[in-house]
This record gives sequence, C-alpha cells and structure tokens, in this order.
Amino acid sequence: MARYIMTVDLRRCIGCQTCTAACRHANATPPGVQWRKVLDIESGEFPDVRRSFVPVGCMHCGDPPCMHVCPSTATYQRADGLVGINYELCIGCGYCAVACPYQARYIVHKREFAYGDRPTEQEEARFDPNRMSVANKCTFCSDRVDLAKEKGLTPGVDPEVTPACVNSCIAGVLAFGDREDPNSNVSQLLAENQFFRMHEELGTDPGMYYIFDTK
Ligand code: SF4
Ligand code: SF4
Repeated sequence: MARYIMTVDLRRCIGCQTCTAACRHANATPPGVQWRKVLDIESGEFPDVRRSFVPVGCMHCGDPPCMHVCPSTATYQRADGLVGINYELCIGCGYCAVACPYQARYIVHKREFAYGDRPTEQEEARFDPNRMSVANKCTFCSDRVDLAKEKGLTPGVDPEVTPACVNSCIAGVLAFGDREDPNSNVSQLLAENQFFRMHEELGTDPGMYYIFDTK
C-alpha cells in the first residue's frame, strides 16, 4: 500500500506564498484560514543573519495525536496515510486542535469574507456549510488523489491528481508521492539529500520531510 508524503526543499523556497494562494483557491478556505502556510523565520545575529521560509500544514502523521484524542471518531487515517475528518461526525470540541503539535487545525464559527461584510460571488458559490463549527485542515488534496486509480494516473507525477500547492510552486520546492515506492520522486529525493521532520521526537511519524542540504 502507498504511504503518501510531501517533501519540502528548504534550499529553494523564496517565501512567495503562491502555494498558500493555490491552496486557498483549490479548497475555498475563508480569510484567516491557511491550510498551507509559509513561516518566515529570522535567525542569527547581525551581521551573520539568515532568513528562512518554511511551508507548513498538516503533516498527515503516521501516528496522529489528533485522531487518538478525537472522541467522536471523526478524525480518521486512511490506508494510504492521509489523515481526514468526517465533518458529519465532528462535534467541534477542539480536542484535536489542542493535541496537534503542528497547529494545523482550524475551527471557524462565524463566516468571514475577504472584502467587507458580504461574500463575493465566488465565496457565495463555494461556501460549504458542512465546514462550519467543525475541525478542518489540509487534506493533501485527497479529492484529487482519489481520482488517480480510476484515471490511471500517479499522484505527484500527474498534476490532475497532485495537491494544488505542489502544482503551483514556482521554485520546485514541494513534491508529493509514495514513500513506500523506492522509485517514486519523493523516495529518490530523500535518498539523495539530507532531511529532517518536525518534532519527530514526539513519535508522530510526520509525513512532511524537509530537505535542507546535500550530502
Ligand atoms: S499534523 Fe496535526 S492535524 Fe495533521 S495528522 Fe498530525 S496531529 Fe493530526
Ligand atoms: S510557492 Fe514554492 S517557493 Fe513560493 S512559498 Fe510556496 S513553496 Fe515556497
């Protein structure tokens, strides 16, 4: 079975946030909600300073704390590693948001709009009442991944079945694919480069791998 992961090449990210915009467009998230966020981090002391851009979001953990604390079984893990939320079962208690070490979850109780107090035509057309007052987060564009089998396409290779952020990146930072396949794009990247995972010490087995230097 596949285990879908994402790789993030920190050497290439310029912090333009095209990935954030692409995610918001693909998933119709409201203002203030960024399933794919890019952190802007300054480090060091003048004159030896450095600025780093770090795309973050749900890590689709192999052992997800959000799922373990969910009292309604709304949060689930698929056989291919994607962690999802059944909006019909979610009771909006927020336990998962507290348990997530990556601050990847959102709960929105009130509709907000990009401009003023009325929705744009697009916001009205794409409003999903099922997402109000329940937990939500990055899905790794599971709706696209789910089309792969029937269309005979490969996630991470064919754009139609690849997450929107990955398709949009202007700098080739993001890659998506099957960690279990040694010949996949992501497995090859990880074999050729040094990488780390965030808060790996917590035992969450996060599914986002950060490439930071060559061997
Ligand atoms: S990053 Fe957070 S929301 Fe995503 S699977 Fe891990 S614990 Fe759950
Ligand atoms: S689009 Fe690519 S380069 Fe730009 S912020 Fe996102 S990951 Fe970084």
